[in-house]
Amino acid sequence: MPYKAEYIWIDGAEPTQKLRSKTKIIEDGVDPPIWGFDGSSTNQATGENSDCVLRPVYEVPDPIRGGANKLVLCEVLLTSMKPHPSNKRAALVATAKKYAKHEPWFGIEQEYTFFDGLKPLGWPDNGFPAPQFGYYCGVGSDEIFGREIVEAHSDACIAAGIQIAGTNAEVMPGQWEFQIGPVGPVEVSDQLWVARWLLYRIAEDFDVSATLNPKPVSGDWNGAGAHTNFSTKETRQSYEYVERAAKALGPKHDLHIKNYGAGIERRLTGAHETASYTKFSYGVSHRGASVRIPWQVAVDRKGYIEDRRPNANMDPYTVVRLVTDTICSTFE
Ligand code: ADP
Ligand code: MN
Ligand code: MN
Ligand code: MN
Repeated sequence: MPYKAEYIWIDGAEPTQKLRSKTKIIEDGVDPPIWGFDGSSTNQATGENSDCVLRPVYEVPDPIRGGANKLVLCEVLLTSMKPHPSNKRAALVATAKKYAKHEPWFGIEQEYTFFDGLKPLGWPDNGFPAPQFGYYCGVGSDEIFGREIVEAHSDACIAAGIQIAGTNAEVMPGQWEFQIGPVGPVEVSDQLWVARWLLYRIAEDFDVSATLNPKPVSGDWNGAGAHTNFSTKETRQSYEYVERAAKALGPKHDLHIKNYGAGIERRLTGAHETASYTKFSYGVSHRGASVRIPWQVAVDRKGYIEDRRPNANMDPYTVVRLVTDTICSTFE
């Protein structure tokens, strides 16, 4: 019997690229082939020259359809088979190869917010919920909104073989987090994009939308980030390298901020567990710093650093490439 392959790709939307997908029915025993789409509908081509190419790069069993069905993450190519300008994966693959001897690992904490129409899930029709305090890792129907979706999503990630590391309710009601990793640079990025697709797709069945908006409610409510945890062979053995990794990010602060997600200035205000986007800082255990060295890492004298700057809506291909390049180039 034929199976369904859901081809997933990243479009050309600006300033934040979006996920798209469509279904191909494929004969039993045949691998998902190269396919194409209408780039004029995704800001990736003009109407007169509209064809873009989809090349499968990461396939997992489809946990929603089950059976022999698959999810097929693709990269977008021009018809010349060169990477499309919107394809940020190709450059990451090159950077990961260049620095493979340092064995970089990433763990990404993806924060997001459920919306029910125009308001965050669980918020009253008029006004605001009680101020932030009891929601983070809370329990009870007065504090927790959308747990059934979170459970369905983490089950789906596990069934797909995505290396999801955990989930938690966040500081703002209706806001949640899942973590992917630690795994290699290309793996963490591919897995995060598929995990995002699963989140949107599963929330659809609950008539809820998930958003990666970095500051979904202005005022005294936490924004949504994508803390990016990083280690190499060297940092996993020596604290000297942990400190060197944190320090290496300083001189490239502006370049990283510019590429860490649209609207980052609205989120990195210096309040709500963030450091101002205007100034780089790092510190042990410090959640008001750009980069945090977890206390356990300082105790163990080895481990990883946490770059707290990336927005929830960041592109992992770009963030992971920059972190790898900026730090590993100083380890050469
Ligand atoms: P917190 O909320 O306290 O910042 P989390 O538990 O949410 O921390 O996330 C920690 C992340 O660090 C996880 O995604 C995990 O995969 C990642 N991580 C743990 N060890 C390493 C390591 N050696 N290299 C890279 N990432 C790591
Ligand atoms: Mn976390
Ligand atoms: Mn968090
Ligand atoms: Mn964190």
